[in-house]
Amino acid sequence: MERENQQYNGLKEACGIFGIYDINGHDTARITYYALHALQHRGQESAGIAVSDGKKINYHKGNGLVTEVFDEKNILHLKGHIAVGHVRYSTTGLNQIYNAQPIVVRYKNGYLALAHNGNLINADELRKELEDSGSIFQTSTDTEVIIHLIVKYIANGMVEAIKMAMKKIKGAYSLIIMTNEAIYAVKDPNGLRPLCLGLMDDSYCFASESCALDIIGAKLVREISPGEIIEISKEGIKTYEYDGSKKEAFCIFEYIYFARPDSVIRDVSVYSVRQEMGRRLALEYPVDADLIVPVPDSGIPAALGYSEVSGIPYGEGLIKNKYVGRTFIQPDQIHREIAVRLKLNVMSEMVKGKKIVLVDDSIVRGTTSKRLVAMLRNAGAKEVHLRISAPPVKFPCYFGIDTPSKKELIGSKASVEDIRKMIGADSLGYLSMEGLLSCFKDKGFCTGCFDGNYPIKVPEEGSKFIFDDFSTI
Ligand code: AMP
Repeated sequence: MERENQQYNGLKEACGIFGIYDINGHDTARITYYALHALQHRGQESAGIAVSDGKKINYHKGNGLVTEVFDEKNILHLKGHIAVGHVRYSTTGLNQIYNAQPIVVRYKNGYLALAHNGNLINADELRKELEDSGSIFQTSTDTEVIIHLIVKYIANGMVEAIKMAMKKIKGAYSLIIMTNEAIYAVKDPNGLRPLCLGLMDDSYCFASESCALDIIGAKLVREISPGEIIEISKEGIKTYEYDGSKKEAFCIFEYIYFARPDSVIRDVSVYSVRQEMGRRLALEYPVDADLIVPVPDSGIPAALGYSEVSGIPYGEGLIKNKYVGRTFIQPDQIHREIAVRLKLNVMSEMVKGKKIVLVDDSIVRGTTSKRLVAMLRNAGAKEVHLRISAPPVKFPCYFGIDTPSKKELIGSKASVEDIRKMIGADSLGYLSMEGLLSCFKDKGFCTGCFDGNYPIKVPEEGSKFIFDDFSTI
């Protein structure tokens, strides 16, 4: 029942992954621990690290933040020169250890560990096919389907097995796969989720975002290409193309909200592009005001860009409580509203008597904006003009970003004017789709959450398909 509810709500995963092959034979668990720290924003529900010493894979994983799951003792226990790590994101608050990754299995020739960021959309049918031919599943995660497929084809060699498995799965996947002797990174043919290659001294590593490379002192080599497999072993680095269709559709929402601002993805600085979105927003929706106030943290670069173009001063009118990252918030409307107050408080002396431009990156259900507009007015703001550095979110994401079903998305139910009224702002301006796309030199984006144009045919909303989460408790 719980699982049905979660599917209906469309609660999904967007995770962080990291992997390293240390050719100097150093222990890699601690490096992975630091890298996962840097990727914590991509997932706070569980964390895990698996290491290989060339013979055997050992792992430790658990529910909670990286610092809660790992301590000196279990890091010391994880010895090996190859490692893969994962942080998992879910908004339900349900803690199920069996959903934690990396998934580690033992098969005929050795061990495999797999970490996945993204969502498959044909996991249900593949799972049925595998079960019909005798496979036994321990979880309901789509990630387990991937590992079963790889093992099924393993007689052809690892790279061939990955290629054959990837031909079967559909959806978003950035993967790191570790065997006893090697590590592989794989990106889906649309390249929906980020994954980059880094170099630490002379050892290669993979990370969801380049911010993880900075923290461990590694250099960003490049983003992994859509449809590419990279293999790192004692023989060095090899790359393979398993899908040359070149139909890149990178998730534009990573740039808008999800990724860390200090990351560089596909040669684009997340911070700079968010600033540019703010500049374009100021050109599209100018307003006479006294102060630009960002919604911290994700609204900050866009607010700076808006301020730069409009000439209106920028100021911190809202202060974020840095310790509410992982409060157990009930997913209902009343508790969501308390959550906004827990997270953000108004600096009355900054906003009193002023015309405010409030800048945020997105409106999903409308809860945050409505509360913030009311809080600013209560604190004495004369006018509150809301500016959003992305178009209205109108459609759910099937590829790994947590967005609710269409009926909960305010942008799919109401016109901009009706949203303005519901939120109680004096004016509301969303960055146009053209404005958003003009911030990038390259194209090749998934903009499904804004316009319903998904790169892959998606299941009908509310229909039964597996998300990377399930529960029977
Ligand atoms: P809402 O209150 O539902 O309208 O959510 C909008 C706020 O949530 C904005 O401040 C966004 O920065 C933030 N946000 C956008 N997308 C997500 C997401 N996938 N998960 C968590 N927060 C998000």
